[in-house]
Amino acid sequence: MSDHYERVKIELQQMKEVENEAAADEEQLPPASVSPIPADVSFTARRDLSKSSINGRSRSKSRSKADGRERQVNGKQLPYLTPQKSDYSQGQSRVSDEPNLHIKGTAKLLKGKTAANGHVESCQRQTDGKCEHHGKEAKKRRAVTVDTSKAKTSLEALKMSIRQLKWKEFPMGRRTACDIYWHGVSFHDNENIISGQVNKFPGMIEMLRKINLSRAVRTMQELFPEEYNFYPRSWILPEEYQLFSTQIRLLKDNDSTLKPTFIVKPDSGSQGDGIYLIRDPADLRVISGSPIKQSVVQEYIQKPLLIDKLKFDIRLYVLVRSLEPLEIYIAKEGLSRFCTEPYQEPSQKNLSHVFMHLTNYSLNVHSGNFVHSDSCSTGSKRTFSSVLYRLASKGVDIKKVWSDIIALVIKTVIALEPELKVYYQADIPPGKPGPTCFQILGFDILLMKNLKPVLLEVNANPSMRIEHEQEVSPGVFEYVPSPVDEEVKVGVIRDTLRLMDPTQRKQHVTSSTGGGSPEEAIVVETGSDEKEGLADSLPSLCLKQVFPKYTKQFNYLRVVERIATIFLRFLGVKGTMRLGPTSFRTFIRNCKLSNSSFSMASVDILYIDITRRWAGMLPDSREAGMCLQAFIEAFFYLAARRFKALLLREQVLLLLEVCEGALEAQSHSEKPRPHRSHTNPASSQSSAPTTFSSPALTRRRHRPMQLSAKANTEN
Ligand code: ADP
Repeated sequence: MSDHYERVKIELQQMKEVENEAAADEEQLPPASVSPIPADVSFTARRDLSKSSINGRSRSKSRSKADGRERQVNGKQLPYLTPQKSDYSQGQSRVSDEPNLHIKGTAKLLKGKTAANGHVESCQRQTDGKCEHHGKEAKKRRAVTVDTSKAKTSLEALKMSIRQLKWKEFPMGRRTACDIYWHGVSFHDNENIISGQVNKFPGMIEMLRKINLSRAVRTMQELFPEEYNFYPRSWILPEEYQLFSTQIRLLKDNDSTLKPTFIVKPDSGSQGDGIYLIRDPADLRVISGSPIKQSVVQEYIQKPLLIDKLKFDIRLYVLVRSLEPLEIYIAKEGLSRFCTEPYQEPSQKNLSHVFMHLTNYSLNVHSGNFVHSDSCSTGSKRTFSSVLYRLASKGVDIKKVWSDIIALVIKTVIALEPELKVYYQADIPPGKPGPTCFQILGFDILLMKNLKPVLLEVNANPSMRIEHEQEVSPGVFEYVPSPVDEEVKVGVIRDTLRLMDPTQRKQHVTSSTGGGSPEEAIVVETGSDEKEGLADSLPSLCLKQVFPKYTKQFNYLRVVERIATIFLRFLGVKGTMRLGPTSFRTFIRNCKLSNSSFSMASVDILYIDITRRWAGMLPDSREAGMCLQAFIEAFFYLAARRFKALLLREQVLLLLEVCEGALEAQSHSEKPRPHRSHTNPASSQSSAPTTFSSPALTRRRHRPMQLSAKANTEN
């Protein structure tokens, strides 16, 4: 123990030195600056994050480039303008201020928050329409401008949408800023965008890799096992190989009739690449001598709902219109993709039959049985509504199916939201110039035989192609128009644009106590989704708002987000995603979590133990320090030791109240504020002092659902 403590002390000292150096570097950064984006730019420092890993991002480097007074484009130095103070100043307090969101009628009232995406909507972005904030009226409404130079495979559908809206497309980019930047892959497709709106969130690709999605959902499964049982039990390889083997062995030992099947998915795979089924952990494909590949192994859903004896899945398009406040829309129409070989429950004989078990279009299109159809209700790719009609005709309660799907989508976005906010703040720190973001996600959902929807995966870049591959002669494939894809995808893109239209969306920024006060109230009026954007007799929106519409039903799940808010507060706005040891200590001290039985030395040990273990789980991590997931683990640990004998969820909620109460009291003492919503101070009285017995964490946080439920009762 003492040896361990000595080692920890040395490591901690080294980390603090690194942290201090980083802080010193940070202070030398020049102030934020703004620049118009020139046309036909080819940036020298472009990064393609689609290829980089979650931890392989050189954030501080790109940040200092973006934030510097000058930057180079095609070798030329570009001038910068100074930002309007009012555009950004209010964003600075967003993280540390109140997390509470109140909904009043149709308008959303946010206290102490900035507008959508964590940025105050700047009037700079509303020059076309009426700017309520400054009371200016534009003389003539100009067309909304869209930079499509990086749209890649979504270009065709995007062009059609822009034409329908009578907006203006800039296929080669534009010298001055555009209202909307449409990226094909990642937020970073165009570097250095400092205004307007980008159709990708920073970090979305990373968050939706199979391992990270599984981790984010699992954290929620630990807190809300019932609510998050729509995601199959999963294990992360290679780190949980032993756990996986042991659990399956126990399962089979207990019931020899059980013949579970598992599906192995490579972490960053897509379109069914590298996926295979196994019936025993020993069947994992391991190339001798090399470690098991980063992947997720998942319980295989053996009894899917079949239509015409075929397995199918649902691709639903979901728009995350903003993270702050959270706004989610679901497309009323989606696609159903069918297998091309009749389904049979998995057996040793059929495990390798991809056309029977995998619904991916990219695989099945190569099957001789694939049926291209111009009708939306036949063939191997159909509209989801045609499937629902078919089910309804058989007496299925499709309203229930649909509302279960909506719940699945909202819960999944709630699971992703906390870490997305960390990425967001790292890339677009409050107070610095940056665009706002929105993103269309592709949810892949399977209906079980009992009609329960199961989440398979979420795609950050769902295909927006409106052509499909067709074999015109043996072995020769051509792209031909696909009416089903066009019907669904053009609607989704067009209506996303309508919802993001800067001339339609009114943002009223008012302040209850005067401009710039941390008490400002921001009222965001978006109108009803049916009315929005109907100006030019376009069809009614195919995107339906589900959040905040269903806030009441789902807001109680946003517990991890509150932990992330605390994390972000102590992370500061340095553009990093990791908490250093000093900041962790400050968190403990400010939240008054240490006492005679939990010394600051114990805090240091806790920090180093958890951080070190997470560094092992994120092997390509370049940034040192504690990531959000590790902080959540530390938070759960602190909650469990302080509020014993309760369910984990209750422990965490109580600790959150303690922390939020302490931080709020601290804010009050630093700066008197007229009115704040407050947490219940009585709850902190129920905190029983506990003994810090061992720095080694006896309870592993990451484990499958079945065990987490047990963990809840254990605590
Ligand atoms: P990819 O990104 O490679 O498409 P998915 O997770 O979507 O990976 O899996 C590919 C296909 O495998 C799905 O479309 C679905 O048909 C099938 N599949 C995936 N997970 C499961 C599961 N847990 N149970 C049954 N089928 C699954």
